[in-house]
Amino acid sequence: GVLVVGSITADVTAFSQRLPNRGETVLGDDFTLVLGGKGANQAVAAARAGAPTWMAACVGRDPFREIVLSGLRSHGVELSEVRTVEGRTGVAHIRVDASGENDIVITPLANADLSTEMVDESIRATQGSVGVMLLQLEVRAEVTCHAAKAGAAAGLTVVLDPAPAQPLPEDVWRHVDIVTPNESEAQALTGVEVDGPGSAVRAGAWFLERGVRHAVITLGSAGVVSVTAERTRHFPAFPVTPVDTTAAGDAFTGCLGAGIAAGLPVDLAIQRGTAAGALATTHPGASPSLPDRQAVDALITT
Ligand code: ADP
Repeated sequence: GVLVVGSITADVTAFSQRLPNRGETVLGDDFTLVLGGKGANQAVAAARAGAPTWMAACVGRDPFREIVLSGLRSHGVELSEVRTVEGRTGVAHIRVDASGENDIVITPLANADLSTEMVDESIRATQGSVGVMLLQLEVRAEVTCHAAKAGAAAGLTVVLDPAPAQPLPEDVWRHVDIVTPNESEAQALTGVEVDGPGSAVRAGAWFLERGVRHAVITLGSAGVVSVTAERTRHFPAFPVTPVDTTAAGDAFTGCLGAGIAAGLPVDLAIQRGTAAGALATTHPGASPSLPDRQAVDALITT
């Protein structure tokens, strides 16, 4: 199984023809309120890919709590390691215009309460059921770094999606088995200008020099570059007609984690991840667009 240590938000999205200028009010066309957060999206992606999946995370004591928990529950994510804390559930406040352009304010709220002690308890509670830990950077960096170290010490395969990109303490990298940045995150962290497979290999080398065992750089419609000390490999993307690329990276990482947890060879897990990422772009929205195992099987065998 998979243990995700990360964020849960209620995604509050207003759709309008154009985004308002500063100080302006515009009338919108639609509104949605759904489960989101990179942690929750990756947990849903892993669960839909077939892995028993737990989330170590915090929600608040408010009406958004039931909305996000029922979202996780409906996709089969185990809730035993989700804590309810005083205060409010995290929120992503999103505006989208008719061309798909958006802006987002994320307010962490309860996500800021996730602690190193809670992570340790969740590792203990899921011991024996979980082989993979998925991490992102939407909870406190100190908690993510602690989780990487504690997860590695517990023998888990530690996968870090360094999003949103931010500088991290140098000593976190040696606890990371697999890092999964997209182009812009790889560039922000390594300083290498990443614009295709060749430069992605150079960015991958930066992570390996710091102790990461395997760098997997996602390149959108250009697929994935995988870099280990032994070899470099390019996985092309599956050809699809994208309608909304939100959560392609979360679909990729969640499905990759589920594949590794199921004991697949890592190259096969990467290939399944690229299929999940491609499928996620063919539906609007984040968690509703994450494919299940059958859909991934079907795309791979076509
Ligand atoms: P993020 O969503 O984090 O920016 P990417 O855009 O790199 O991540 O997408 C993750 C993976 O999903 C890609 O490596 C690719 O395999 C798949 N994917 C994303 N966009 C497309 C696309 N337009 N066509 C096919 N596959 C895609």
